[in-house]
Amino acid sequence: MSDCRICHGALEERRVTRLQTYHGKWYIIENLPALVCRQCGEVYYTPEAHDRVVEPITSDKPPARIEQVAVLDAS
Ligand SMILES: [Zn+2]
Repeated sequence: MSDCRICHGALEERRVTRLQTYHGKWYIIENLPALVCRQCGEVYYTPEAHDRVVEPITSDKPPARIEQVAVLDAS
């Protein structure tokens, strides 16, 4: 893939932060390689990025740090 599916802008490789749920828990994955549109900011994950999300979640390695997250009710 060489351009954005939404606006056809150019994509560039960047490290992004992704929020992921896994078995009912939330994880923040930092420094994930992805393709990001220079024009609209849409993020595209490569197939190998999937493994790089699942691997640290399922491994026994301790997290880089623990963050507290505020949960807000918009109702
Ligand atoms: Zn775009």
